[in-house]
Amino acid sequence: MSEKKKKFYITAPLYYVNGEPHIGHAYTTIVADVLARFYRHELGDNNVYFLTGTDEHGAKVAEAAAKRGMEPQAFVDKISAQFKAVWQELEVTPNDFWRTTDPAHIKIVVDIINTLKQAQTPAGNDVLYEADYEGLYCVGCEKFIFASELVDGKCPLHNKVPEQVKEKNWFFRLQDFLPTIKKFIESDQLLIYPVSRKNEVLGLIDKQTLPDFSISRSIKSVPWGIDLPWDKTQKVYVWVDALSNYITALGYPNGKLYKKFWPAEAQIMALDILKFHALYWPAILLALKLPLPKALYIHGFFTIDGQKMSKTIGNVIRPDELVQTYGPDVTKYLILSQFSFGAESDIKVEDFPKKYNADLVNGLGNLVSRVTNMIASYLDGHVSVDKKKIKPVGAAEIINFKFREALLSIWQLIQQANSQIDQTKPWELAKSIVPADKKKLKQILEYLAQDLYQIAAALEPFMPDTSAKIIRIITAKKISKPAEPLFPRKQ
Ligand SMILES: [Zn+2]
Repeated sequence: MSEKKKKFYITAPLYYVNGEPHIGHAYTTIVADVLARFYRHELGDNNVYFLTGTDEHGAKVAEAAAKRGMEPQAFVDKISAQFKAVWQELEVTPNDFWRTTDPAHIKIVVDIINTLKQAQTPAGNDVLYEADYEGLYCVGCEKFIFASELVDGKCPLHNKVPEQVKEKNWFFRLQDFLPTIKKFIESDQLLIYPVSRKNEVLGLIDKQTLPDFSISRSIKSVPWGIDLPWDKTQKVYVWVDALSNYITALGYPNGKLYKKFWPAEAQIMALDILKFHALYWPAILLALKLPLPKALYIHGFFTIDGQKMSKTIGNVIRPDELVQTYGPDVTKYLILSQFSFGAESDIKVEDFPKKYNADLVNGLGNLVSRVTNMIASYLDGHVSVDKKKIKPVGAAEIINFKFREALLSIWQLIQQANSQIDQTKPWELAKSIVPADKKKLKQILEYLAQDLYQIAAALEPFMPDTSAKIIRIITAKKISKPAEPLFPRKQ
């Protein structure tokens, strides 16, 4: 990752709209937003593209719509709007919010499928072929499932008995691409982070049990999707449709955005969709003779206060509720500061109030009010900060997906500044009539003002509003005592 980048294309998944946005979606999208903001600062706004959106086709969506007595399109419009609204509330800033029911997407997917039908594998076989498929199909997973994967005869992810399905499908000859994909992954040309996930994918390839995957499904089992161009009794299988979004949204093959931004530098996702992104997606790209993304970043599943997130337990956290309680900046801080990216992720909602008071009210908020109060009282509000002296605190960590660690290093600065105040006791120097003490007082407050500026700059990708507020306060012509605390104490 040391090569100098000129542009940065980052994707969060297009989320599947069979359910409402939850904290897991929020985590992935917030991480992407931190990177997008960081790189916009580094490379300029025009050289960063951050994509997310909604994946809206498939049997599961049709099922969910029917359950609520809705037409699929009306249903996906509703859920998609909820995702979009949550990102606005969290103040995450995708450059585009892409939907797979958008006619522009559908048109390009049809072109892609037609191209695949003409394409050859590295071994000289047709990429697509027609065959009977009979197997167990989990509607929850949108995929055929092996008997060996079942627990008590049920899909372990969905706790559902899979259906026995037999139909004529079009298949993608994955087998022929695996040796090339393996080389890309082994050499980190397609980086998979963390390394445990890379090894998992290589393990899957080495087992040599990966079947070719179907790229179409009968309209009887999947009524809601894109028509297969040459056979209207078939729909394009939801994963091909969905994965293509990363290039259709850029206007592949001739769009300006596509030419500028593909391949992606970072594709971020949760563990459950790793296989599709690490195997199917590269295979599709290779068949289209397109470059592979540079890196896939995978985070684990979420638990809430140590328990699996579930509607039955009632511990599903809605990101919009957190925003109502804490605002967007603090919500992002609380979520990102609890565990490292890639680790199994337990969100301790019980700890949020304590953490809010400790880190934000007593930590950052207290520092801002102490420093500005003293500058207002002892220096008549006049202090200068040097923007050129800003160090890239947390930058190396952000580049390497160590978001929690970046926040820890920023909070270390906050602690240091607070304890410097305790040790140097500027209020005692202010009482002194010795000229040397006056000079020392001014010096200390200038240091602290510089520290605040530094902290605000480092916080920008994580807490943009807070960062802007602090910078406004500390660069004012005349700093006045803050009218209200940055973070009000909560009971
Ligand atoms: Zn399943």
